[in-house]
Amino acid sequence: MLIVLKKDATQAQIDEIMENLKRAGHKPDFLPGSERVAIGIRGNTGYIDESTIPPNDAVKEIIHVTKPYKLVSREWKAEDTTVKLPHGAVFGGKNQPVIIAGPCSVESEQQVEETAEFLSRLGVKAMRGGAFKPRTSPYAFQGKGVEGLKILQKGAHRHKISVVTELLHLEYFDEVVAHADMIQVGARNMQNFEMLQRLGKIKKPVLLKRGMAATIEEFLLAAEYILAGGNQQVVLCERGIRTFETATRNTLDLNAVAYIKEVSHLPIIVDPSHGTGKSSLVPPLSRAAIAVGADGIIVEVHKEPAKALSDGYQSLNFRQFEELVASLRSVPA
Ligand code: PEP
Ligand code: MN
Repeated sequence: MLIVLKKDATQAQIDEIMENLKRAGHKPDFLPGSERVAIGIRGNTGYIDESTIPPNDAVKEIIHVTKPYKLVSREWKAEDTTVKLPHGAVFGGKNQPVIIAGPCSVESEQQVEETAEFLSRLGVKAMRGGAFKPRTSPYAFQGKGVEGLKILQKGAHRHKISVVTELLHLEYFDEVVAHADMIQVGARNMQNFEMLQRLGKIKKPVLLKRGMAATIEEFLLAAEYILAGGNQQVVLCERGIRTFETATRNTLDLNAVAYIKEVSHLPIIVDPSHGTGKSSLVPPLSRAAIAVGADGIIVEVHKEPAKALSDGYQSLNFRQFEELVASLRSVPA
């Protein structure tokens, strides 16, 4: 429930309402905002009876937050949230769509250096690269681990590009948080509740990918865990879901992007690489993502996709990526 206050509500009135709510057994949060000042009550599973809200002259209206997720909803916060990375990328609001690009996996110092140098020439401000890889087969390349984190951070920062990398195991929480500018939660960890709770306690942006079998509601409730912990800097990522379709690796659910824009204030980006699993489909689906209102894309790029240690078949080579970036300029966002 949201208790919206009148513009001229005094601090004494606000304090009185907060106290009365606590006494009535609620857990209120004060929510200052440029467009509206409100007090929120969450944690309830059912409808809150308005008669349990002590009356006060400063109350303008009472809004029932109907969704199971509260903090991430537009009912709770109407304005778009923006999330900033250190080297100039800003997700959300009226900002230009952010492009995150880079290899599926960090493979070597030379690979990261060449890619970062190439990306910086194109004005890309955020670089992806997995040091810990969630692989379907135990025999597939599992990533370079902490060494990969160091290689990625050094190479990207040398070119003034922010680092986006996945936290796969809680065991490496501190190392990943120390080396990343944005911590990626992969599809397989979307409901790792301990991971979400710990990320709620840090002060760095989180990129939360949708689980491959997660509903939109489950996806938003996963984000709710991070916000409930105190970290508001969350960017969602639609990366395709499992359906009956087998022609493509996943089914990229662009409905989810338009729907989430309506019901949530959080930025959302799209991963057309994992969403399609096929490099030729990445440019058209990137353009579709921007056209539908996504706040950015995350794309796998490799100098020689045929030699990539993971996901080469869905990676763009440098020339293809450059063409994609040029083509995005003419897509109305
Ligand atoms: C990735 O981005 O490298 C990745 C493994 O993605 P997802 O978690 O969406 O499968
Ligand atoms: Mn990949």
